[in-house]
Amino acid sequence: MKLTVIGCGYLGATHAACMAELGHDVLGVDVDADKVARLQNGEVPFFEPGLSDVLRRNLAAGRLRFTTDHREAADFASVHFLGVGTPQQRRGYGVDLSHVEAAVDALTPLVRGDHLIIGKSTVPVGTAAALAQRIAVLAAPDTHVELVWSPEFLREGFAVEDTLEPDRLVLGADPDRDDTRAARVLAEIYRDMLQSGVPFVRTDWATAELVKVSANAFLATKISFINAVSEICENVGADVSTLADAIGYDNRIGRRFLNAGLGFGGGCLPKDIRGFLARADEVGAGRALRFLREVDAINTRRRGALVDLVADAVGGDVLGTNIAILGAAFKPESDDVRDSPALNVAGQLALRGATVTVFDPKATGNSRRLYPTLGYADSAVEACEAADAVVVATEWAEFVHMVPEELSDVVRARVIVDGRRCLDAGAWQSAGWRLHALGGPMRP
Ligand code: NAD
Repeated sequence: MKLTVIGCGYLGATHAACMAELGHDVLGVDVDADKVARLQNGEVPFFEPGLSDVLRRNLAAGRLRFTTDHREAADFASVHFLGVGTPQQRRGYGVDLSHVEAAVDALTPLVRGDHLIIGKSTVPVGTAAALAQRIAVLAAPDTHVELVWSPEFLREGFAVEDTLEPDRLVLGADPDRDDTRAARVLAEIYRDMLQSGVPFVRTDWATAELVKVSANAFLATKISFINAVSEICENVGADVSTLADAIGYDNRIGRRFLNAGLGFGGGCLPKDIRGFLARADEVGAGRALRFLREVDAINTRRRGALVDLVADAVGGDVLGTNIAILGAAFKPESDDVRDSPALNVAGQLALRGATVTVFDPKATGNSRRLYPTLGYADSAVEACEAADAVVVATEWAEFVHMVPEELSDVVRARVIVDGRRCLDAGAWQSAGWRLHALGGPMRP
């Protein structure tokens, strides 16, 4: 099939390349000319394992192309995926829908005949219904543009795998119209996946929109739950990691997303739970989601708690100390620093007068743009030179498997602060390091 993907960021570039990998002819559209040029040259503008190969293979096969021109998109295909950004509003918790609206406004007047727009961005409930009205006003006479919502669940770091082998596909359609045609188109696009048994949930717009934000709210709640428990563990000397293992054996609970530590960040969970709260207020259900405020507050508190733990670790005050921060991306296997807990902590320590040096295997470039005044190093060892404390803020495998002896003579003091509870406490302690873990003691 011929498809376009409008918005070629983390979601859209991955989606475009993976749709081509499925055998479709794909045109990616983005307003960022530099991004489009890089993608067209086979260069992924961000770090995502495995994506580069899929991109290059499909460019070479002639199944994939990128443009900045919405008119080309209107002419190229009659099925359009929409994957533009939906950030938090500058003021308040609501979602900024201006990019989604701009994309629809740019495309709709240009199309002729029957077209299908498949929204993939994460949006507040009610967005599809509002966009459909917008589309009805903008569409040319004798033109029919159907809008459905099929939210995306990919995880950065596993984006290719998640796009090609999703846990489920969701199709939300106008509840007042027959969705047979849209369902047939999706079934054709995803034929191989559906044949391999991927669940296909057909529903209305509102349910589809809510599925996505509910999933993220649940994941955020799970993380904040274990972090709240870790605050108690800290006070009484209990080991939250062992506790998480023990409760995680219960398969009603499960062990995943129960890692206590610095909490969540990135371009999705924080803004999605806030957007969910804001929308719930607007539809008169704010009370139902009030607990999400606490989920957010617990999460934000972890950042301050790590800063305090670092201060304790260096004797009470970080002023005048050298602090190495290992990790800047919001999670490993990504270069995404949007709302990164690691960089937030680095920034707070710098404001308290520490000289902070950050190292991240992939996110240094993005970090420099966001926090230009922090120090940056080209390796973990360089970041740790003359450090009074080393802080692990993102659990990249290269930090988890660091050999303590390799840093012992580089640092000024053998003090390590594990913000992710990912280190082998015994190995560090037996190499003569003092280890402080966020969330209370870690058993060797
Ligand atoms: P992103 O900022 O990386 O990408 C958005 C892209 O849209 C940018 O390249 C931007 O230039 C482009 N854009 C903006 N306006 C446009 C327009 N009018 N026409 C064409 N392109 C336009 O964001 P992202 O992380 O890819 O997220 C996109 C959406 O997907 C968001 O709603 C997000 O919540 C959702 N989502 C993201 C992930 C993820 O892991 N990143 C996972 C699931 C869902």
